[in-house]
Amino acid sequence: MSQESPRRIRVALSGIVQGVGFRPFVHRLAASLALHGFVRNDSRGVELEVEGFAGAVARFLERLPAERPPLARIDSLEVEELSPTGACGGFAILGSAAGEATEALISPDIATCDACLAELRDPSDRRFRYPFINCTDCGPRFTIVRGVPYDRALTTMAGFTMCDSCRAEYEDPANRRFHAQPNACPVCGPRARLVDAARGDAAAAPPEDAVRAAAAALRAGAIVAVKGLGGYHLACRADDVAVVATLRRRKGRDDKPFALMARDVQSARRLVRLGAEEEAILSSRERPIVLAARRSDAPVADAVAAGRRELGVMLPYTPLHHLLLADAGVPLVMTSGNVSDEPIAYDDAEAAERLRHLADLFLLHDRPIGTRTDDSVVRVVSLGGARVPMMLRRSRGYVPLPFELPDPLPRPVLACGPELKCTFAVGRGRRVWVGHHIGDLENYETLRSYREGIAHFERICAVAPETAVHDLHPDYLSTAYAREREGVARLGVQHHHAHLAACLAEHGARGSALGVIYDGTGYGPDGTVWGGELLAGDARSFERVGHLWPVRMPGGAAAIREPWRMACAWLVACGDEDPPLPMSLREHVDAASWAQVARLARGGFASPVTTSAGRLFDAVAALLGLRARVTYEGQAAAELEAAADPEGGEGYALPVVAAADARILDARALIRAARDDAAAGLPAARIAARFHDGLADGTVAACLGILAERGLDTVVLSGGVFQNVRLLERMAAGLAAHGVRVLVSRVFPPNDGGVALGQASVAAASP
Ligand code: ZN
Ligand code: ZN
Ligand code: FE
Repeated sequence: MSQESPRRIRVALSGIVQGVGFRPFVHRLAASLALHGFVRNDSRGVELEVEGFAGAVARFLERLPAERPPLARIDSLEVEELSPTGACGGFAILGSAAGEATEALISPDIATCDACLAELRDPSDRRFRYPFINCTDCGPRFTIVRGVPYDRALTTMAGFTMCDSCRAEYEDPANRRFHAQPNACPVCGPRARLVDAARGDAAAAPPEDAVRAAAAALRAGAIVAVKGLGGYHLACRADDVAVVATLRRRKGRDDKPFALMARDVQSARRLVRLGAEEEAILSSRERPIVLAARRSDAPVADAVAAGRRELGVMLPYTPLHHLLLADAGVPLVMTSGNVSDEPIAYDDAEAAERLRHLADLFLLHDRPIGTRTDDSVVRVVSLGGARVPMMLRRSRGYVPLPFELPDPLPRPVLACGPELKCTFAVGRGRRVWVGHHIGDLENYETLRSYREGIAHFERICAVAPETAVHDLHPDYLSTAYAREREGVARLGVQHHHAHLAACLAEHGARGSALGVIYDGTGYGPDGTVWGGELLAGDARSFERVGHLWPVRMPGGAAAIREPWRMACAWLVACGDEDPPLPMSLREHVDAASWAQVARLARGGFASPVTTSAGRLFDAVAALLGLRARVTYEGQAAAELEAAADPEGGEGYALPVVAAADARILDARALIRAARDDAAAGLPAARIAARFHDGLADGTVAACLGILAERGLDTVVLSGGVFQNVRLLERMAAGLAAHGVRVLVSRVFPPNDGGVALGQASVAAASP
């Protein structure tokens, strides 16, 4: 065909192609190539036809994916040749084709773009200092969606009628706000207001500029509940020791680190040490919280992240944040607006009630939040010679992007997830949508949020589950939810198998691998509590080929809250029937309780057997006197890592005992060595370091043996304990040095936030 022959094609695109400026882009591209035809949204994405010279059509097809708008993602592009019609009417953007079930994907919420920021700061712009400025390249998406298709009427912007100026932008294909569903301005859009927590709305004349007034109050030491994108934050000055202490007290007995917000990268650099990778993630349009090493001179109250070497920092991601941080002039604590253990507040009436006693002021706005969404959390780790991001909490900015499984699901699925750090997932075909972080399913609030989230995802992702996948733990509320779903088949998946399958799926790996799953706790099919497992297998099945030395959890769940109990259990396991109360624990535990727990550890009453790696870290942290009791999951392990001497070296020996059907990693040797070194007066920092390095090196050695024996070449590192950077990096490097292919959970969290993906992946591999 000559370059000058006429050619007409139809192109069908799927992916994130609606609500991201795709049609105007197609319009501009076609017009620049003198092509005729049309483009429109349909139920699967975007459909278009173009006609013109064959050479121009070919260039159009090249440039279409290459020059797509920043937020667009093309998952499939199908081209069909048509007979030229001699069309010459130019190029048109048509209305949406009426469709059946929608396949179009909804974009996550996106941080304010540079063009909008420039307008926000331009006194001559009609949106100068307007806290809700957005365009097709940025702004709220997932959190305002109530249904599909993604259309203003089905978002929480439905109640705002566009003024003439906004309407003109919205209808102009050449405008940056063409079909920007949340388009708004000070005349017609949402408004911010500042409310006194004690007096409510009835307060004296509201300030002209609510954001400026809130910033002034923050500077003066107030705690302000700030309504954001996916919920409320509690904000205060990060450098004010007194107000941070007050915030801690009001939120409840809890040591969980608070996240910070800095106005820009320069300001963030004064708080934490940032490499190029951290800065890139910090400034990305997803804008997660980035964990990075705290600077010793950071102007931050210690209570923000006591016992940690890292701080979690994020940059402003809404126009309101940009204004607030610029006006405040100091970094702010921005922590989830909740009482300990409750989900982040998002409903206005509920927030007013729940946060009234926590905040002095409320910085509110009148755009409803459709779906509660927490800030995501990312950390950079060194793997295979590169510094790469690892997701620790996947929520705002990433959800609801789907993930493609290596193999299709035989039927639509709901993966109910675990109990702690719960996320759920829905899937059909090869697509799985992992939902936003829900939190720990342990109270009415989170359970409600879980149920609503599942219903919402089934609707917006058009998934009608025929299978409900659940954890084997009979008492998890997520398992109970799976049981109560009617008209679905059920599939139980072992917790650590789900971790293994999630990591394999993330890497698109189909073959068998050896999974090192170091985790908190999970229900083992043998009735014990698993959590330090070497599992050989794939998404379909697994074999337990190794595990940590089993010990008792004295008092069951109490041993999770009180790591000193695990220290006692490990000392008993070391052969000391009545271990003396270690010096390091004397100020935390009385002799009678210690003796009683030792009895539980020996006799086993209400004290299940566990192989949990998380509990081993707890035991060592307690043994060193670092943490006898925790207020949140993983606290003792995180503090043990923070306490460890950064200098590496020879770790404690970790012998491997060959049992009938599995290798047992005899961690008693680690405990004995730590106990003896502590008694000999070695600093806790050295002991913590030698413990980490010994566990890492010993596990690597065990893996090498199993790989050789089974003819495997791949090791998966997953489970919540691999949030421990020292353990992760040392093991990954140790395995790679022996030519082993190492797969690490990074796109989805290694912790229980990844379990739902693993459950879905197991369903895909099950007949
Ligand atoms: Zn924008
Ligand atoms: Zn307007
Ligand atoms: Fe887990």
